[in-house]
Amino acid sequence: MDVRPRDRAWMSRAERWPERETAEPETLYRFTAHERTIMTQKNQAASLTVRDVVSNALTACNGVLPLEPAWVARELAPAGRRLGLPEDRYDVGARGEICERWLASTTRADNRVGPADEGLSYLALEGDRRITLREAVDCAGREIMGTRYAATHSGLGRLAKIFDYGARLPYHIHPRAEHASLVGRNPKEEAYFYPPGVDMGPHPETFFGVHPSIADEHRYDVLLPYLVDWNSDLILRHSRAYFLIPEDGFHVPAGVLHAPGSALTIELQEDSDTSAMFQALNAGRVISKELLFKDVRPEDRKRLGERFLLEWVDWPVNGDPYLYERFHLGPRLIESSVQPGGEEHWIYYNTPKFSGKKLTVRPAMSYVSVEKGVYSVLAWRGSGTIAGQQVRGGDPSGDEVLVVHDRATTPHTVVNTGSEDLVLFKFFGPDVNPDVPYIGRALA
Ligand SMILES: [Zn+2]
Repeated sequence: MDVRPRDRAWMSRAERWPERETAEPETLYRFTAHERTIMTQKNQAASLTVRDVVSNALTACNGVLPLEPAWVARELAPAGRRLGLPEDRYDVGARGEICERWLASTTRADNRVGPADEGLSYLALEGDRRITLREAVDCAGREIMGTRYAATHSGLGRLAKIFDYGARLPYHIHPRAEHASLVGRNPKEEAYFYPPGVDMGPHPETFFGVHPSIADEHRYDVLLPYLVDWNSDLILRHSRAYFLIPEDGFHVPAGVLHAPGSALTIELQEDSDTSAMFQALNAGRVISKELLFKDVRPEDRKRLGERFLLEWVDWPVNGDPYLYERFHLGPRLIESSVQPGGEEHWIYYNTPKFSGKKLTVRPAMSYVSVEKGVYSVLAWRGSGTIAGQQVRGGDPSGDEVLVVHDRATTPHTVVNTGSEDLVLFKFFGPDVNPDVPYIGRALA
């Protein structure tokens, strides 16, 4: 990935906006009229509510809110170091390494150690105010999501990430609704897209599900010793891996075991950070067994121990011999999207939980977008504008925006101002795109 780290992306707030002079001026000093105006404006700014600041920002940026990058550390596996940070910024001590960047996120990262706001995206505002996208949605939900959507959805309901590991991740699972709700969490269904032009890492293969015979013959207990002994990676012998190819992807329903390979992955998923790790040994070390029980109630752990996690597994789907055919995603051209300046492909589909597109706009051309609701954008390659707001692919300080409902649903122009294709990924939450395609292959 051609990423040019800019200092602004990771400098602390204090470095970016040094403390302003606050000392009281001498009493004999007389303020000029201009200084008085500035002071009044500053005082007014300090008393603005979050809602006022968000409303002002929405007006100023024409409904296309620029966002700061949200870096997330993990301890599971080494970083792939393809996120565009300076080399010395990946290692963050006890927190692990920066392995993920969350996009337009309203979800907090559920890490053992780390800052209280880890994972949450901030609006990129001029001035001193720091406002997370979550706060903005909480106080200006109707402006951001539209009145109708906000009446039936408590938030944006999806989480997009750039996933950057230098090794395969441990074989793990995310809970379906019935198990997530026991610990007051949301279920987690996810989908992957592997962007082209990036090193695929040492293990570009992902394990999915279990061998069909295990599900067919109800031999679920075959996985149990690996969870109890917690000392090897041999549980993978009961699964099969699929080769990762640029521009391809997969849809992974909740309750499906998976061990994601090392390709840089752009992931879209439900708004949740819940999981259970089933593989002890990964990338040369045994991970904490607490990661198996992280989202299990103490009473369930006490009652059934490791066996409780077998209930999380959706056996018919995991053992489906047509797992690949049912859940493999490739870009699908949206016929109605084709314009002289560019076109769109569905890249995340096959579910009502979220959806996503890739928009390509050719050099010096423009493209008129109209969507069905609020969406966020990662500019991947090239440079241009979205309804007048600048974006630069590969520059974490200028590649991320949220397009609010009113702007999204009226025709707005995307202009490629550069000399290469402008490639944007658009991420949508639940129920925004009821026309999303389905693979439509029935369970075997
Ligand atoms: Zn996962």
